[in-house]
Amino acid sequence: MPELPEVETVKRGLQPTVEGRRFIYVETRRGDLRAPFPADFESRLTGRRVERLWRRAKYIMADLDGGETLVIHLGMSGRMRVYKVAGDDIGRGKHDHVIFETDAPARVVFTDHRRFGLMTIVETRSLESHALFRNLGVEPLSRQFNADYLKRVLKGKRTPIKSALLDQRVIAGLGNIYVCESLWRSRISPKRMAARIKSENLEVLARAIKEVLKEALGAGGSSLRDHRQTNGELGYFQNTFAAYDREGEPCMRRDCGGTIKRIVQAGRSTFHCPACQTL
Ligand SMILES: [Zn+2]
Repeated sequence: MPELPEVETVKRGLQPTVEGRRFIYVETRRGDLRAPFPADFESRLTGRRVERLWRRAKYIMADLDGGETLVIHLGMSGRMRVYKVAGDDIGRGKHDHVIFETDAPARVVFTDHRRFGLMTIVETRSLESHALFRNLGVEPLSRQFNADYLKRVLKGKRTPIKSALLDQRVIAGLGNIYVCESLWRSRISPKRMAARIKSENLEVLARAIKEVLKEALGAGGSSLRDHRQTNGELGYFQNTFAAYDREGEPCMRRDCGGTIKRIVQAGRSTFHCPACQTL
């Protein structure tokens, strides 16, 4: 599933041809994705100018000039591809579900073979209180996210740190890959009870989370299965994973000599090095 860096990569890829541009044509090629499209989806978007394109957690948000916001979630496998030419044959594939044309001009095609994606339209001023957003935690790349924040939210938490970091009410947009990588960098055991982690180690962890996310962004995200950038290219951060998806391989920390192990926590795979992640 795309996490923060993948969604941010897609948003940045859309920006030049969508932000500040007007939707001149919108077409849904089926009635639903994970949920039905809202009523009059196409006509509510057509003619509207995108005033701001931004991201919250794993959602891409397009604020429109009429006071509404188009909300897009890529689900498990959704892709947005930008074509700088218009052409009626573009976006007509079996799994192409939505076509947006802007006056850039550009044609943006949403493709999703599993259809766990979501598109909806929400009144911009009530976004914060909307069911999708009201319980989301802070953005990990924001200034509000730091060691003090982690100390506050993890206080008294008797769950393993791995699960606590995946909780979207605590940190928004962080998922399995980047939690595993951040814990490896911080030498913190994914099994450590969240409330028991020393504050100096939380300092290291908060920094590691930001670093890992920024590096992944610089690499265009991680392409394990479905993620593509809006020009169709893969992300390549997966080539630098230190822990995630490396079960049985040697730990990359110099002089460690350990082997990456996979365990299951709360139904999700955790990759870690038991030899050096002991904090
Ligand atoms: Zn190690």
